[in-house]
Amino acid sequence: MPKIRAEKKKRVHNEIAKQGILFNKDFGQHILKNPIIITSMLEKAGLRPTDVCLEIGPGTGNMTVKLLEQVKKVIACEIDTRLVAELQKRVQGTPLQSKLQILVGDVLKTELPFFDICVANIPYQISSPLVFKLLLHRPFCRCAILMFQLEFAQRLVAKPGDKLYCRLSVNTQLLARVHMLMKVGKNNFRPPPKVESAVVRIEPINPPPPIPYTEWDGLTRIAFTRKNKTLGSAFRQTAVVAMLEKNYKLHCSLNNKIM
Ligand code: SAH
Repeated sequence: MPKIRAEKKKRVHNEIAKQGILFNKDFGQHILKNPIIITSMLEKAGLRPTDVCLEIGPGTGNMTVKLLEQVKKVIACEIDTRLVAELQKRVQGTPLQSKLQILVGDVLKTELPFFDICVANIPYQISSPLVFKLLLHRPFCRCAILMFQLEFAQRLVAKPGDKLYCRLSVNTQLLARVHMLMKVGKNNFRPPPKVESAVVRIEPINPPPPIPYTEWDGLTRIAFTRKNKTLGSAFRQTAVVAMLEKNYKLHCSLNNKIM
C-alpha cells in the first residue's frame, strides 16, 4: 500500500478507536463536545416543561439528553441511521426514552409535525433552506435557537449599511426577529470544523407582514444582484427591464387591463 494511503488508513482507524464512530463530513457531522456551550444554548432557549422541542441532527445525542430532561417531548430528525442507532441506545431503558421521537431522514424532505421550539447544532450546509423551512412552518413555533457558521450568522442579523447586509438578511428579517447570542470557537466541536460558529435566536413574527413572498423574493434578487451597484442601475439592466416588461404584460392580460 502506498505510504500516504496507509497513513490515511491509520488516521481513520485512530479516529474510530477514539470516538467509537467515524464522523461523516458530507453530513456536516461536528459533534458539540463542550457541555458548557450546550447548557448555555438551552438556557437561552427559555425552555418550558410543557414544550415540544424539535432538534435537527441530534448526532450522538449530547444535546438531546439535556433537552429531554427539560421538556415534555423531543422530536429529533436525523439523516444518518448509524447515529439514530447510537441515540436510541443512549436513551434505551431510561425514563427519557418515552419522551423521544426520532424522525429518520433528510429534514428538508420531511414534513415536520407541531413543535413549540427548535434547538439545534445543525449541519451548516443546509442552513439557508432550513431557516426558511422553519419560518414558513405552520403553526408558528415560538423561536429557534440554532448554531450556524459564524459568517452565515452575521449575515442573518446584519442591518442596512453593514458590510454583510444581503438578501438573506432582508428575507429573514421580513419574517423574524433575529439576535446574535454567542460566538463559538472551533475547538468546542469534534472533529473541529474549518470555520468559526455562532448561535442565533430566530423568533418568527406572528402574524407575518401581508406581502406576496414570491414577488418580494424576485424584487430582492434584482436589488442585490451586485454589491456595489445602485438600485437604479440594477433595475436598468437590459435583462431586468425585459423581464419587468414581460411580467407587466402578463399582469395586464390576466387583469383585463389595456396597456
Ligand atoms: N447536534 C449534534 C450533532 C451535530 S452534527 C451535536 O451537537 O453534537 C450535524 C448532525 O446533523 C449530524 O448528526 C448529521 O448526521 C445530521 N444531518 C446532516 N444532514 C442532515 C439532514 N439533511 N437532515 C437531518 N439531519 C442531518
